[in-house]
Amino acid sequence: MIIKQAEFIKSAVNPSHFPEPEFPEVAFAGRSNVGKSSLINTLVNRKSLVKTSSRPGCTQLINFFNINSNFFFVDLPGYGYAKVSKKIRAQWGPMVERYLSVRPNLMGVLLLIDIRREPRKEEFELMQWLANRSIPALIVLTKADKLSRNKQQKQLAATASMLGCRTEDIILFSATSKQGRESVLEELGTLFSQ
Ligand code: GDP
Repeated sequence: MIIKQAEFIKSAVNPSHFPEPEFPEVAFAGRSNVGKSSLINTLVNRKSLVKTSSRPGCTQLINFFNINSNFFFVDLPGYGYAKVSKKIRAQWGPMVERYLSVRPNLMGVLLLIDIRREPRKEEFELMQWLANRSIPALIVLTKADKLSRNKQQKQLAATASMLGCRTEDIILFSATSKQGRESVLEELGTLFSQ
C-alpha cells in the first residue's frame, strides 16, 4: 500500500469512545520501548505523527489514526514496562482484550518484538488469543540494525520456531535504516484487501 495521508483522530480507552468502525483497521502491539512509534512514523513518513515517549509505559490509551481516508491504524498501548504501577499494568490486558473483541473492522494485528529479545509470556498469550479468534497476526522484529544480517536471519528463524509460525509471517524492520518498510507496507496492503 502507498500512504499519502495520515492524521491522528483520537485517543480512547473505552469502546464507547472508539471511532465508528467505518474503515478497515490494523492494530500495532508490542512491549514498551519496542520501537512502535518509530515504526508507525516510518510507515507514514512523518517524524512525529506518533509521539515517541520519553517516559515509556505512561500512555495507556489506544490511539486511532486515519490513513488515506480509507483505513485506520491503531496504536495499542505498550505493555510490560517495569516502572508503571501494578494497577496500570493490570489494566492493559482487559483494555486491549476489549478493543480486540469489539472491532468488527479489525483486519489484523502487527506484533512488534525487539530483535534482540525472545518472545515472552505476553507475546505467546497475544498470539494464542489472536489465533483462537482467527485474527491474522504478523510479527515485526524491530531494531534489526542492531544485529548483523546473518544474526537477523538466525533470530528470525528462532522466533518463528518459538512462536510456531511461518518465517514468511515475520518481517525484519529498522526505523533507522528503513529496512523492511516496503515489506510491512506490502503486508498491510494484503491484510486490508482481505
Ligand atoms: P515505543 O515505546 O514502542 O513507541 O518505542 P519508540 O519508537 O519510542 O522507540 C524506543 C527507543 O528505541 C527510542 O530511543 C528509539 O530511538 C529507539 N528505536 C526505535 N526504533 C529503532 C530502530 O529501528 N533502530 C534503533 N537502533 N533504535 C530504534
